[in-house]
Amino acid sequence: MSNDVSPLPSFRDLALIEPLLKALDDVGYETPSPIQAQVIPHMLQGKDVLGQAQTGTGKTAAFLLPVMNQLLKNHVDGQTGALIVVPTRELAIQISQHIEGLSYFTHLSSLAIYGGNSGDNFIAEKKALQLGADIIVCTPGRMIAHLNMGYVNMRGLKFLVLDEADRMLDMGFQDDINKIIKAISTQRQTLLFSATMPDKIRQLAKRIL
Ligand code: AMP
Repeated sequence: MSNDVSPLPSFRDLALIEPLLKALDDVGYETPSPIQAQVIPHMLQGKDVLGQAQTGTGKTAAFLLPVMNQLLKNHVDGQTGALIVVPTRELAIQISQHIEGLSYFTHLSSLAIYGGNSGDNFIAEKKALQLGADIIVCTPGRMIAHLNMGYVNMRGLKFLVLDEADRMLDMGFQDDINKIIKAISTQRQTLLFSATMPDKIRQLAKRIL
């Protein structure tokens, strides 16, 4: 993030659609954080984004708001619109709760897919991966378990978000991430968020952005 001291825009200035502005009002976000003010306009212009951001900066809404905005504007039934890949189930649950809050005034569907669930969840996950949910949040290992079964349909995917990418590589998920990227549409818009920017993250960014 830059040290720009110019006043931050409002969420309305960022041209987000009404149901999202209403939800922002409800959750009590008054002004975009610096990362949100930087990322949202780029995303809405259709660009890929490499963001260096720690937890606590508002990075989650920085990618959720533009993704949700575009999925609402160009809604397609029966396809998964966005896939958000995260290192841990805790982060998957946290992002899923964010989605619930921000999508309150919309019809967007979402599901978090992570390990350690009961068989019942596996069936619900399979259904969402076959028939499509607007936003799917997943941990890499669980996604690979589904991909290996052959029914995952990601052909219409518009957005891929890799959150806490440095942590995913540190946890040994590089191969899983490569497999996930291979299985999804190449026409997508990609966002890569990382708290640090070591060489391996720059190389990954160069390859997928
Ligand atoms: P994150 O960095 O995405 O984990 O967000 C950190 C915390 O900041 C979360 O509790 C969010 O709900 C909150 N938050 C995110 N964006 C804003 C904003 N624009 N105004 C106020 N709080 C926010």
